[in-house]
Amino acid sequence: QQQYNIERWSDSFFHINESGEVCVLPYQEKDDLHIPINRVVDEIKLQGLKLPVVIRFHDVLRAQVRNLNLAFDNAIKEMEYQGCYRGVYPIKVNQMREVVEEIVDAGSEFDFGLEAGSKPEILAALAYNTNKESLTILNGYKDEEYMRLALLGVKMGRQCIVVIENFSELNLLLKVSKQENIRPLIGLRLKLSSESRGKWASSSGENAKFGLSILEIIKSLKVLEEENMLDCLKLLHFHMGSQIADIKTIKEAIIEGSRVYAKIAKMGFNIEYLDAGGGLAIDYDGSRSSKDSSRNYRLDEYAMDLVLSIKQICDDEEVAHPTIVTESGRAITAHHSCVVTNVIDIKKKHHEDFEIQVQSSDHYLLQNMRSTLEELSINNCQEMLNTAKQIKAESMQAFKLGILELEEQAAIENIYWRVMEQITALLKQKEFIPEDLLALEKAHAKQYLCNFSVFQSAADVWAIDQVLPILPLQRLNEVPDEDCKLCDISCDSDGQIKQFLDTEGLSETIKLHKINNDEAYHIGIFLTGAYQDVMGITHNLFGRLHEVHVYADKNDESGFYIDEAISGGTAGDVLSTMQYNPDFMAQVIKKEIDTNIKAGQIQARMGVKYVDFYENCLKQYTYLDS
Ligand code: PLP
Repeated sequence: QQQYNIERWSDSFFHINESGEVCVLPYQEKDDLHIPINRVVDEIKLQGLKLPVVIRFHDVLRAQVRNLNLAFDNAIKEMEYQGCYRGVYPIKVNQMREVVEEIVDAGSEFDFGLEAGSKPEILAALAYNTNKESLTILNGYKDEEYMRLALLGVKMGRQCIVVIENFSELNLLLKVSKQENIRPLIGLRLKLSSESRGKWASSSGENAKFGLSILEIIKSLKVLEEENMLDCLKLLHFHMGSQIADIKTIKEAIIEGSRVYAKIAKMGFNIEYLDAGGGLAIDYDGSRSSKDSSRNYRLDEYAMDLVLSIKQICDDEEVAHPTIVTESGRAITAHHSCVVTNVIDIKKKHHEDFEIQVQSSDHYLLQNMRSTLEELSINNCQEMLNTAKQIKAESMQAFKLGILELEEQAAIENIYWRVMEQITALLKQKEFIPEDLLALEKAHAKQYLCNFSVFQSAADVWAIDQVLPILPLQRLNEVPDEDCKLCDISCDSDGQIKQFLDTEGLSETIKLHKINNDEAYHIGIFLTGAYQDVMGITHNLFGRLHEVHVYADKNDESGFYIDEAISGGTAGDVLSTMQYNPDFMAQVIKKEIDTNIKAGQIQARMGVKYVDFYENCLKQYTYLDS
């Protein structure tokens, strides 16, 4: 179990039971309901869906909304803070309607709102955040239509705050609000001077794409004063970037933001909200450190630090405590979804069934490689490794010069990989392993081919070396002893996972089990609910995955039920998004088969079958039917 560090990254939502199965703990309690993920997969298969599939655990999503709000409520009570907390969920982190709806519903008791950063997102926010007490924070670049949508929200009695990201947007907002005769609710985004760290550090600092410098903030305040709109300024916003691993960075940003807020409040503006943006990190690798894929703080510490810093600065400046807003997306959504795939093939570097007998006429290089294998023992691993490498290099030269036949070269390579495999096995008995031999274990790893696309289901793994926890869903009461690489089915050498968690940190390979014939060996890719779920690209035309929405139910025998199963994209769907016309394509095939039938090259009965087959393939899932 320790192999995959599950207790460290799971935030108590996942656990391995005594039967060695990965379970979801919807209530974050080991003594409470366990849902083995493989039981969900069995039911998915019974419903006619095939792997790969995205499983969404809606109770996990709801729990995270609650955890975030309660963390702030507790910190506010403990610090005797005079304001309150009013968070918003940034739609872009996972725009799926079901996710947004669930978050809004779970957050209604806390007046939890939404954040939008584009016109489609504001359209969604207006329709789904109908609670008049909660906030709708409007970020991103804006045009007149965007401003009009925000003002429509205000007219309907919603708390739609337009955050000015660039100075020119202010004039645009004032122009449109005069035309519409609606007083806007305005926020200003501060460009932080405190530089952030991590993969999204460019969101802050002087070169950040968004935000107003202190000078531009002063200019904006002047404009509002001249326009007699002091009362319209409601919020100060800043965002330090996503996945901020080090609490120090968060504290620096909040101190800077609070100071600017307090100064504005002192100037007589009726400002009410301080919005600290996103950044609350996830401990993907379980190291509880300030590494990019981790965080060195807990949720309650984050809330406490924000509340305390804001309180101290506002008290110091003698201004009222603001309502604290955060825009946490990753922390709410990451744990709730996982991708389940299956191993469909194993690629070994040698084949037991490929045996070429050594004959007296065989080349001496082949004979030498054979002797290396025969003489290999625990005491001469390093020596035999060197010899085998040398023979392999020499044989390749000999093959290029036409001295070796194709079969001889194949036999030499086959025996070479057998030598490597046996050395790897012998090493397990040794206490001290020299460095060269250590690397061998990784180099000799088998490739487990999994039915999914990294580009569609784990885009950040490919794009920015994001670490995601990956582990088999079963047999975790047996020690996994195969060193493996995980490859996807895309025709791209980038289509593999190159980093895995293990007990000592990150590894290029993952330990998996030897798979028995016909065994359904399922692998889960966890913490994919934030960004990964929605950023996937259809590289190789692999489309969206089937998706099921699971709810816990203690009254149900299995402890859960599938509320909704949504079919993933078909080949026809994906082709259509790339401007192909599946109907036209089917006609082309039909026409050509008809011509072949007329020419007597295809039997009419078979021709009809071929056309049906092609049309049917257009309606099928884009992944392998395994
Ligand atoms: N708010 C803004 C303005 C953002 O740009 C982002 C993402 O970077 C977020 C909120 C969400 O951040 P996170 O997912 O780290 O909570």
